[in-house]
Amino acid sequence: MTSTSASEKTTQTGMEEFDVLVVGAGVAGVGGAYHLSTQRPDSSFVVLESQDHFGGTWWSHNYPGIRSDSDLHTYGYRFKPWTGAPIATAEEILKYMGEVIDENDLGSHIRYNHKITSAKWSSADNKWFIEATKTDTGDTHYFSANFLWMCQGYYRHSEGFTPEWPGMDKYQGQLVHTETWPKDLDYADKKVIVVGSGASSATLIPAIADSCEHVTLVQRSPIFYSTGRNRDELAETLRELEIDDDWIHEIVRRKIFRDSSNFHKRTFDEPEVVKEELLTAVRDILGPDYDIDTHFTPGYRVWRQRVAYVPDGDFFKSIKAGHVSVLTDEIETFTESGVRLKSGAVLEADIVVVATGFNMNVLGDINFSIDEEPLVLSDTVTYRGMMFTGVPNLLWVFGYFRGSWTVRADLLSDFVCRLLTHMDSKNAKRVDVKLRHEDEEMELLPWQDPEDFNPGYLTRAMPFLPKSGAKPEWHHSQNFREDLSEIPSIDLDASEFDYS
Ligand SMILES: Cc1cc2nc3c(=O)[nH]c(=O)nc-3n(C[C@H](O)[C@H](O)[C@H](O)COP(=O)(O)OP(=O)(O)OC[C@H]3O[C@@H](n4cnc5c(N)ncnc54)[C@H](O)[C@@H]3O)c2cc1C
Repeated sequence: MTSTSASEKTTQTGMEEFDVLVVGAGVAGVGGAYHLSTQRPDSSFVVLESQDHFGGTWWSHNYPGIRSDSDLHTYGYRFKPWTGAPIATAEEILKYMGEVIDENDLGSHIRYNHKITSAKWSSADNKWFIEATKTDTGDTHYFSANFLWMCQGYYRHSEGFTPEWPGMDKYQGQLVHTETWPKDLDYADKKVIVVGSGASSATLIPAIADSCEHVTLVQRSPIFYSTGRNRDELAETLRELEIDDDWIHEIVRRKIFRDSSNFHKRTFDEPEVVKEELLTAVRDILGPDYDIDTHFTPGYRVWRQRVAYVPDGDFFKSIKAGHVSVLTDEIETFTESGVRLKSGAVLEADIVVVATGFNMNVLGDINFSIDEEPLVLSDTVTYRGMMFTGVPNLLWVFGYFRGSWTVRADLLSDFVCRLLTHMDSKNAKRVDVKLRHEDEEMELLPWQDPEDFNPGYLTRAMPFLPKSGAKPEWHHSQNFREDLSEIPSIDLDASEFDYS
């Protein structure tokens, strides 16, 4: 099909045209809608969301205890003060996002139950042609947009990652993934095994431990946790002084940015000291006789995987209270009534909860093509983790591994709005990023350095992700403090941008 016939076909069937199409109504997409409506009030835009509600992660996940592990001063948007305790439940985050939508009249721009299945770029039209399936009726809806803003997150919401263990088909109990937790799951007085260590299991376990007969966490290897009170003293003091919420939000954000980048720097400068600090906090709750070496001392440098925050030490308190056991071991096989571990230990379980992570969804599992050629994303090179060579008029929001996702979402929103305004000023309909003459000899690297950060979902998806390069332009920086000054000052007329 030629590009012209693509537009003709969609016009006949009622194609809607927009300046910008935003994929997804999670924190990134709703933030994008806010920034577009305030910074580019004359742009027409639509947000397509496959779920029946906004919130993304916070709507799709409903296991008990679900909460953030970032503080909401930085996970909240730059433009709307967070006034609660730093760590928030999914319900509180959804309420906050709902206020952003209502206060800024964004609801009419969001279409729920629209799952985008294909995105075709036509150079003849300088447009993206989008097909979306209505998840409630099965109908196909057609859209076109000059710019595609990918806020689809990084993992598949419909299914989590479950390793293949022998004997799973024999197991007679209930097998549940944290990502698709049945709302009516009855775990009262049940023996529960939670497989996998991470923020999800550390959140889930204290929420269910009191009700269950017993919970056993089976982890292949330990991860780092940090713990502290779920309050921010500076925010509380400023509140007592009756400072405006806007000011408090900004001041506390700056303090947290500084503290977390100091912490990150210390993980390189004095890794053993930082490690000992984290382990001491765990030991203080579990006591000197607990086997911290086996169960809570990872073999990697702090921050090579996300450090899970445990507010008020609740996860460790459940272990201390005897409601939870931790086994650092591997599942050898499922049995009819539980699992057998490689150590030979046999565990009975009414419910096995799998908390083993995500399946990454690269660009929303959408079939992309550029002038009728299927897009092979792994053949492209990323521009700062947000755009790709050979893919015009598209920006991808992928947040920070070590900082709050929304910080980057806000920064990239400013960037998109600035880029679109720049294109208007040049009367350009198309923007590409391209390797410059001086980049020709640049070594191409994996999208993310596995020595720096290597969780399982990323390692599994690496072959499908774009390449990066050693120069800052071709690298997805994880340094949010540097990005806060660098991204706003990107020269849009630099030679890596091509406008037509
Ligand atoms: C349990 C949990 C806790 C987390 N806690 C934190 C935290 O404390 N701090 C932090 O920084 N990060 C955290 N994260 C990471 C989290 O995913 C991000 O913070 C953030 O929610 C990502 O927002 P997003 O809008 O980019 O993506 P998502 O929240 O994933 O939302 C993307 C939306 O796009 C929609 N979508 C995807 N593909 C399509 C398509 N083809 N068509 C239409 N719609 C589509 C999805 O349905 C979804 O609603 C957590 C993740 C999980 C799972």
